[in-house]
Amino acid sequence: MKINPIYVTQPYLPPLEEFLPLLEQIWESKRVTNAGTFHKEFEAALCNYLGVEHISIFANGTLALVTALQSLNISGEVITTPYSFVATAHSLLWNAISPVFVDIDPDTLNLDPARIEAAITPETTAIMPVHCYGTPCDVKAIRRIADSYNLKVIYDAAHAFGVCDAGGSILRHGDLSVLSFHATKVFNTFEGGAIISPDADTKKRIDYLKNFGFADETTVVALGINGKMNEIQAAFGLLQLKHIDQALVLRKQIDSAYREALKGLAGITVLPPNIATKGNNSYFPILVETDFPLSRDNLYMKLKENNIFARRYFYPLISEFPMYQGLPSAQSANLPAAHAIANKILCLPIYPALSREDQDYIISTIKSIA
Ligand SMILES: *Cc1c(COP(=O)(O)O)cnc(C)c1O
Repeated sequence: MKINPIYVTQPYLPPLEEFLPLLEQIWESKRVTNAGTFHKEFEAALCNYLGVEHISIFANGTLALVTALQSLNISGEVITTPYSFVATAHSLLWNAISPVFVDIDPDTLNLDPARIEAAITPETTAIMPVHCYGTPCDVKAIRRIADSYNLKVIYDAAHAFGVCDAGGSILRHGDLSVLSFHATKVFNTFEGGAIISPDADTKKRIDYLKNFGFADETTVVALGINGKMNEIQAAFGLLQLKHIDQALVLRKQIDSAYREALKGLAGITVLPPNIATKGNNSYFPILVETDFPLSRDNLYMKLKENNIFARRYFYPLISEFPMYQGLPSAQSANLPAAHAIANKILCLPIYPALSREDQDYIISTIKSIA
């Protein structure tokens, strides 16, 4: 009988003894926040690792999304996906913007570019797609539509740390891209996030906005918020960067083992591998089809009874929550693909420390039901 719970994810933590010297440095300097040494070093190291030029780190991904929209003066309506974590749409409401939900492509689970144009109105100012599970959006098609209607594009890239297409980092696309470094993500600083800007002026404005709008000691240029990351988290992020490649290798091995074991299992569809040149294996989503002996929810419950805590990312859809369900675009007839996927999806545990033994236990539990 298994007693240790296996969660869908576990934060990736480097050895504590590697972190202690960094903490000592912070204690000595007495500089614990407000763009200290580690803050600057972490931003520079992230640019270097990710292959981008301008990055602003944040206290969390949600504040980064809210600030990204504010920095580009986005207003009116923004086209987005219902198949995401609720923070995607919440960032719009926090800016008094109306979300307009467009259905997803059932193959990529990303915003379907073929459905975007029909949702554009004179009020539309931007598109906010999500690189769901780290699968790159159709960035070319989205850019083409944005350009022909003069819209901004802000990517919620919370799942896309380290993902590359043939041209380099996926984060270079759009007017801005936003990362999350939450503990559940591939790369974490416990809580954290970042905005990738195309140029130094945009980064500068974003840096003002995350610091109450201060341009200098006595000048407040905008209604900024407190979105700053502290030194302890920045130091942790810097350390985490040294281990991320190893973490990605381990994730890839777990992904391959699941694929091999679940291949051909009746009633279970494993989504195809990431189309990206370099993926990050951030999630392991499966679809529980109607010919599986248990419904998706019953499989979820059964796994739970066996101490395996899978997650229904993303169910319910954002469009089902009370603050969104009244919108015309939130009606289920408008979002058939998103509803179909939300009712079948289950994300299995995947994280670097998941042992082969625990993974075998997860697989055999599913197989014993099938
Ligand atoms: C995690 C996540 C966020 C929110 O990031 P936080 O750092 O938790 O605030 C936003 N969008 C998506 C798609 C996410 O998965």
